[in-house]
Amino acid sequence: MTKTNTYDVVIAGGGLGGMLCAVILAKEGMKVCVLERDKQIGGCLQTFSLQKKVFDSCVHYIGGLGEGHTLHTILQYAGVMDKLSLKAYDANAFDKIAFGDEELMYPHAQGLDNFVEQLLPYFPSEREALEKYIKTITTVGDHFPLYRLRHGSADEKAAVSSWGVTQTLQDITNNTKLQNVLAGNNLLYAGVAERTPFFLHALVTESYIHSSHKVMPGSSQISKYLWQQLQAYGGEVFRNTEVVKLAEENGSITYAETADGQRYYGKQFIANVAPEVLLEWTDSPQFRTAYRKRIKGLEQTTSTFMLNVVLKPGTVPMRNHNIYWHATPDAWDAIQYQPQQWPANYAAFFTEDAQNPGYAESVSILSYMHYSEVAPFEHIINRTGHEQDRGDAYAAFKEIRAELLLDKLYQRIPELKGNIIAQSTATPLTYRDYTATPKGSLYGILKDINKPAETSIATRTKIPNLLLTGQNVNLHGVLGVSITSIATCAELVGMEYLLGKVKG
Ligand SMILES: Cc1cc2nc3c(=O)[nH]c(=O)nc-3n(C[C@H](O)[C@H](O)[C@H](O)COP(=O)(O)OP(=O)(O)OC[C@H]3O[C@@H](n4cnc5c(N)ncnc54)[C@H](O)[C@@H]3O)c2cc1C
Repeated sequence: MTKTNTYDVVIAGGGLGGMLCAVILAKEGMKVCVLERDKQIGGCLQTFSLQKKVFDSCVHYIGGLGEGHTLHTILQYAGVMDKLSLKAYDANAFDKIAFGDEELMYPHAQGLDNFVEQLLPYFPSEREALEKYIKTITTVGDHFPLYRLRHGSADEKAAVSSWGVTQTLQDITNNTKLQNVLAGNNLLYAGVAERTPFFLHALVTESYIHSSHKVMPGSSQISKYLWQQLQAYGGEVFRNTEVVKLAEENGSITYAETADGQRYYGKQFIANVAPEVLLEWTDSPQFRTAYRKRIKGLEQTTSTFMLNVVLKPGTVPMRNHNIYWHATPDAWDAIQYQPQQWPANYAAFFTEDAQNPGYAESVSILSYMHYSEVAPFEHIINRTGHEQDRGDAYAAFKEIRAELLLDKLYQRIPELKGNIIAQSTATPLTYRDYTATPKGSLYGILKDINKPAETSIATRTKIPNLLLTGQNVNLHGVLGVSITSIATCAELVGMEYLLGKVKG
């Protein structure tokens, strides 16, 4: 085989992490290629359509796209920010938190002061606690240098990394209801009581409090524009190109081999996949047995069931907020549900009908689902290009779960009943097959304050010319993955230099 496919940087995985690294490095004059297994690039940024309505497969709304926030600055640097069409959520409630049969819903508002003001009527004696909460999430954000686009030290992060989310919320207020309202959108980080670090909560929620937007018509616009930028800088994306091996010579990776036998040679390699997936590509002795065992044994964040419904036009009033519902008064209960209790929570995301302003055209509903529930069907892979039917039992399982979920939704949104004209569902297996995330996990490895070192993944690997990027390093989500792309690229071009350029 001749070395025609030779690059400065070969990136395996064309999710947000891989695409953003590709643009940043191509902008530096490097010859870059992205190898993506799927037909569609973007990984979790993929969209699909049902009855000609666009649905997001994962990313329904994004925090920190407003001017002045880190994410805005990074995407501006990548050349996509100005091209995106954004719909801002209601300033006084981007999310509403609901519990059980209680009719009242508690708002999470945009703007640090407004967040306090909008919750105050529901908790009139808790001004001090609400102000303390805002101060605490801001302080924690300040301790994460890259989150503020600063070059700082690991010690800064270490000072706040051991705080647990439940304990910290309890320290802020002893009002249990308020603690649960503040944690009400914990599906955004699949939080687990006594285990999830507070910083995860703080960094995610602070970004949405800063600014909450939906990308119109869907989040795949981000990957589309990243691809355009990459092409403008001479970079290439190869789709339907599954990496199966990283070949090593004298301690360094020499080429990535794909399922069709092609070899992509490079000086540097970046893996935008779960570390577990990366280890399948190489039997390098530089990854010791103990390390492989540790990675393989890491617990993943839980997965989700998703129901997407298309609505009869002009029947369901549009909500310019998302609804997070919990079956019990405890926002941390749902993640450890028993199958017979399902659904123990849901998050509902509405999309407005452009032809009937004020009405929703569709709703997407997510509810935690453990991988074990679909494990009996795990031997069947089903994704574009590898279509396989998982059979009647699986179809029946999905149908029953969709009905159970709808029953719960009708209680809070009765207009939905009788007005659904089409629906589709996704399970943890769908996520596993479409994004190659182990066990269809929502956000990758479960971060745990009780095992800080074990659950932290670095951008550098034991192989000198192989870096990691994506949601398993640092933080998940569009914001987290964008920050990690900066960290990964900084390994090649220098942090001070890159931050200087990103900040203009
Ligand atoms: C259901 C759900 C809802 C979410 N909602 C939100 C939200 O509202 N807001 C938000 O900010 N974040 C949300 N997230 C999180 C966010 O989408 C992810 O953290 C982020 O997009 C992950 O990006 P990534 O680049 O790390 O990985 P991915 O998007 O998973 O990309 C990895 C890529 O690698 C490719 N790949 C895998 N194996 C191979 C191989 N062998 N060869 C070549 N390519 C390969 C995959 O096909 C994929 O394209 C959500 C996630 C999920 C699952």
